[in-house]
Amino acid sequence: MCESAVTAMHSEIRKYRICETGGMLIGYRRDEQMVITHITGPGPNARHRLFSFTRDTEFCNQELERLYFQSSGVLTYLGEWHTHPLGELYPSAQDSREMRAIATTPSYQTTCPILLLAKIDKRSDGPVAQCFRYVVNRKISVPEMFICSDVDIN
Ligand SMILES: [Zn+2]
Repeated sequence: MCESAVTAMHSEIRKYRICETGGMLIGYRRDEQMVITHITGPGPNARHRLFSFTRDTEFCNQELERLYFQSSGVLTYLGEWHTHPLGELYPSAQDSREMRAIATTPSYQTTCPILLLAKIDKRSDGPVAQCFRYVVNRKISVPEMFICSDVDIN
């Protein structure tokens, strides 16, 4: 995950301390690795609840399209992110249902989307995150996530 994407996510998380927030993960694949270069915010029409979140799809798609064209098709959809401010950083049954639906919806153009869950750690006051990858009907926890310096596309 690129530094600027982490910074952007951190500032989005801080806007919603109690309700869930989130957006899309955008980047590219390199062999088995996925590099998250950008995140989107929730968008103006998103729904933020205590234990659920629905992103503003139109807003997120516009962001995705913009980055796709700017990068000549290098940057694409990688998955979803949202916060669990009051809960564990583990996918809910609803989260897993949504991710499986994405994996089997052709327009998302991925069969192994990732789900990143984040929150502010009370002790350090910094963001903490867990990442999961959905492959067909399996959920695989991503053991390590690296923060890399920003990648220049082109
Ligand atoms: Zn969730």
